[in-house]
Parts: sequence; C-alpha cells; structure tokens
Amino acid sequence: MVELKKSVKEESVKVVVRCRPLSKKEIENGHKSIIKMHYREEPTKDFTFDAIYDEKSTQVELYDEVFRDLVDSVLSGYNATIFAYGQTGTGKTHTMEGKCDLDEQRGVIYRCIDHIFDHIGSSRNQKYLVRASYLEIYQEELRDLLNTEGSKKLEIKEKPDGGVYVKDLSAFVSESAESIQKVMATGNAQRSVGRTNMNEHSSRSHAIFIITVECSQVGIDGEMHITVGRLNLVDLAGSERQAKTGATGERFKEATKINLSLSALGNVISALVDSKSSHVPYRDSKLTRLLQDSLGGNSKTVMVACIGPASYNYEETLGTLRYANRAK
Ligand code: ADP
Ligand code: MG
Repeated sequence: MVELKKSVKEESVKVVVRCRPLSKKEIENGHKSIIKMHYREEPTKDFTFDAIYDEKSTQVELYDEVFRDLVDSVLSGYNATIFAYGQTGTGKTHTMEGKCDLDEQRGVIYRCIDHIFDHIGSSRNQKYLVRASYLEIYQEELRDLLNTEGSKKLEIKEKPDGGVYVKDLSAFVSESAESIQKVMATGNAQRSVGRTNMNEHSSRSHAIFIITVECSQVGIDGEMHITVGRLNLVDLAGSERQAKTGATGERFKEATKINLSLSALGNVISALVDSKSSHVPYRDSKLTRLLQDSLGGNSKTVMVACIGPASYNYEETLGTLRYANRAK
C-alpha cells in the first residue's frame, strides 16, 4: 500500500498528485487499487503533497482548487506554468486537455480559455490581447506546431534583459474561446503529422501550449499601462524508465534525452523550492531554458503528478511520487 497525505502550506510551487481510476481492462483483469489517500491529519509513513486527488476527483474540482488561482495571476500580469508529469497512461493528457465536447471532461486548457475570455468579457476599463503558441520538444529539439510549413527546428534566444524567447515561434491572436480552441486543434493535428503512432510519439515528447494575455489600461496618472502574463500548459513526456526496458539504438537515445529533461526540470523545481540553493540550473535542458521566465520569481507553478492505482504500476508510481516529493 502506498500512502499519501495533504499538507497545509501555501507556496508558489505546488505539487499535487492525481490518481486515475482503474480502467475497464484493469477491472476485468481483477486488478485492485493499492493507493490510499489520507485527507485528514492522520499520520502516514510515505508522502505529503499540497493536494491529493483520488480516482473520484473531477476536472472542475481540480480547476477550482488548484488551477483557477494561477489563471487569475496571469490575468494580473504574472507568469504561471502547469505541468502534468507521470508514466504514460496515468492521465496527463486527461488532466491538461480532457475532452472538449464533454462538459465535465474538459481539462484545464479548455477551462482556462473559458476563464480568460469570461474575465475579458466582463472587464470595462481594460483592453486585452490574447495570443497562443504551441510547440513540442522532441529529442531536445523544438518544433512549432502552428507553423504548417512543417519541421523547421526552432532556437531559444536570449533577450538583452536576460529573458529568453523562441525565435520565429508563431503566435496567433485570438478574440474568442472558440478561436483559441481552433488554434489548439491545429497544433494537435500538426503534432501527429508524419507519425505512425501518435500515442508513442506523445509519450516521448513534451507538448507546450502557451497563452499570453496582454492587458492595457489607463492608470490614475493618465498614462497607458501594459502588463503581460503568460500561462504555459505543459503535457510532459512519459516518465517511465524507457532505458531500462531494453531500448536500443534510436529508442535508447530518445529515452536518455527524455530522462535528461525530466530530471533537469526536477532539479530546477527543487532548487526553487529550496531557499538555500542560490543556483537554479535552467540551462540544463531546452524545457527549463524555455520556461526560465515562468519558473521562480513571482511566477506560480503547479506540477500535477499523475499515477495509476494498480499494483503492477507500483515501481513507476513510487518513482513518480519520489520525483514529485523531491520537487517540494
Ligand atoms: P497520459 O496522457 O498520461 O498517457 P491519458 O490522459 O491519455 O494518459 O489517460 C489514459 C486513459 O485513462 C485515457 O483513456 C483517459 O481518458 C483515462 N483517464 C485518465 N485519467 C482519468 C481520470 N481521472 N478519470 C477518468 N479517466 C481517466
Ligand atoms: Mg498523453
């Protein structure tokens, strides 16, 4: 039995765990859940997180309790990042995207799009400009998912002020929730172009959907003030130990790069959480370099560690919980 508990602290980096239900196939095969979550102050021997969500948790519950604050801070001009981490098949894409056309299954991306445009619709004195970009990182190479020209590799460049940007990354201005959803669908379609197995590809690449909200408003000084907030929505590559499964050649190279970037991310988050650490190793991977402006400082970050409940996932589940725990 693996035991988890909720902590009571409020921090700029939050780590929450979500366990998916047993699948139909797992139930048919007689699998049982080995996950036990403690919602009260009972002692547990294993792990403590900012929040824990069992198999009954709903998309709207996670949104209201975990993600809504982040989106509010983006609307106020701060940066924020949401990561879904975990073994393939544990609910990363379900949490991030879910299903657009089933209201209760809409994941955080759809919900935050609605939230942003509801906010814009009800504001009087501000003018907003919303832009979306969509890219993936595969084998430490960046690809623009909104540029139908195809497979040009993108480069991360440094700005004079020390920030970073992706050269030539497309950004689409969206004036409604529908239009930004279309942008996402275009990117998703592009993701699978030339792929024989989309599931396999998505388990080996990071997908990053970026929404930028620019707000302009005349201040009490009579001058125009502009704030820019950025929300990064990251569906990470599967965390399963691919190198261990006897992968060779191209697969082995792939696996090494995935492990490298996930451990670089873990190191960055743990350096940010650890107040004694003065060096944050952003430069160790493309992912952390790309998100450097949105991790740490005034930015808010949530990592959702996704796990499966069945005992045959025990090793991977422990691996995910250890990773998530270290991030605290
Ligand atoms: P991943 O992206 O981590 O590989 P998916 O999000 O594709 O995993 O989830 C695998 C399967 O489990 C999908 O069929 C998904 O609909 C289902 N699933 C995942 N999480 C949940 C959940 N919390 N509730 C119901 N079904 C879920
Ligand atoms: Mg997925």
